[in-house]
Amino acid sequence: MSPIRPENRGRYPSDWAAISVRIRTVRAAGRCECLGECGRGTHTGRCPNVNGGAAYGTGSKVVLTVAHLNHTPEDCREENLRAMCQGCHLHYDREHHRETAAATRRAAIEAAGQLAFGEGEV
Ligand SMILES: [Zn+2]
Ligand SMILES: [Zn+2]
Repeated sequence: MSPIRPENRGRYPSDWAAISVRIRTVRAAGRCECLGECGRGTHTGRCPNVNGGAAYGTGSKVVLTVAHLNHTPEDCREENLRAMCQGCHLHYDREHHRETAAATRRAAIEAAGQLAFGEGEV
């Protein structure tokens, strides 16, 4: 299971389901592979959460997902994939969304600045 956004669905390879299962069950053996990349700062070393178990801190049921470290769904190289519990995955993506939003704002401000500059020249 992976929280695939509808607009990104077409970007995943056709065998994504098989890749995801292999990473979660074979490579990660059902345990979150996050070594702190999530930035939560609530676990030292590898995250202790195990699929189907109780999440540390909250006690809610852990659902292991597979994250793309570079946030590129097409890039399914082993080193770009990381099995993550939903807590680590959500936090990891949130950090990325914040950066993306900031970049979008910067681009909009720059575009507006160039527009104003251009109008001033005319
Ligand atoms: Zn985790
Ligand atoms: Zn983590």
